[in-house]
Amino acid sequence: MKATATAEQIRDAARAIRAGRLVVFPTETVYGLGADARNGDAVARIFAAKGRPSDNPLIVHVRSIDEIDGVAEHLPSAARRLFERFSPGPLTLVLPAHRALPRTVTAGLDTVAVRIPRHRVAQALLAACRCPIAAPSANRSGEPSPTTLAMARASLWRASERRTADDEITFLDGGPCEVGLESTVASVSEGRIVILRPGFIAADELRLAVPDAEVLEAIDAAAADRPSSPGLKHGHYRPRAAVIAHDNEGESLESLLSRVFERERAAKVTVGVIGIGPVAGSIADAFAQRFTDSVVDSGVGPVPRVILREAADERDYARELYRWLVELDVEGAGLIVAVLPPDRGVGRALRDRIARAAGA
Ligand code: AMP
Ligand code: MG
Repeated sequence: MKATATAEQIRDAARAIRAGRLVVFPTETVYGLGADARNGDAVARIFAAKGRPSDNPLIVHVRSIDEIDGVAEHLPSAARRLFERFSPGPLTLVLPAHRALPRTVTAGLDTVAVRIPRHRVAQALLAACRCPIAAPSANRSGEPSPTTLAMARASLWRASERRTADDEITFLDGGPCEVGLESTVASVSEGRIVILRPGFIAADELRLAVPDAEVLEAIDAAAADRPSSPGLKHGHYRPRAAVIAHDNEGESLESLLSRVFERERAAKVTVGVIGIGPVAGSIADAFAQRFTDSVVDSGVGPVPRVILREAADERDYARELYRWLVELDVEGAGLIVAVLPPDRGVGRALRDRIARAAGA
């Protein structure tokens, strides 16, 4: 199969969207499960297919800044400047919702999250269907977000079994996602920008783009009466395997090993180790050594497997994180040790997703 959707497939998908059906499509962040944002019944199908809690609002995707006026009542000047600087791209801004937008999209809120995706296929789909597309990630609620078409299919396979013609899901390929983590979500009110969900675009980059505005991260803004992002309270990004987050700057290797071995008793499960090399590699080696030692001591085999997935840097880790979580599940890992990257740039968003995958 071709790695990228053809013009004809994109036209068919646009027809499906206009007919109120669902389309899985690639964006530069993760794959989305989209529907016509103006059609409340179509949007309700997204929630049903994902098993998504109805209080978790969706991001509405539009082609360009000019099309925002169809979904938002107005565009504050700081929001316009941010979109001018970062769009199309992985930035979502929460704006006052247009009164005609169905409240299924916003989960009843009077604000709407808006993004202008950069991926060629997403742009072509938006151009062909000529309507805003509401789309969360194309996975069953709670699971890691898909960064390849195969991951989206695997996660949604039950939902994509068609019961009626309207339940059919159209899938568009666009290759592996370039960013691999969801967009940065920020609310904008005059003079103040609050990052509700960290993403590829970091707080400092937003500050540079709007030097006269105050940019807060949700954690810092907590005291300052932060606007809430309903999605953050739900479990997210979880593979079947238990995930343990390890901060190699704050926790010794010995302490990590005893944490794992206590939890897993004699630790007989296959362990996955993911992180940036060479730190992740030496942690995997330490697990392998500990497994071998304990089998030698007890005389009871076999030695559990240790599977290592090593990233070159933070960006590479961001691209691979969700795919690795899903792959390690398939490989039968009972436990995944995710080594936290340094808290800078996209590292902050990675730390956020890993903490959630670990159930924090
Ligand atoms: P996803 O599930 O990846 O599509 O994430 C969408 C994120 O955007 C969730 O964390 C939502 O809570 C957040 N979001 C969407 N709409 C709004 C809104 N109107 N106000 C605040 N957060 C929103
Ligand atoms: Mg999601």
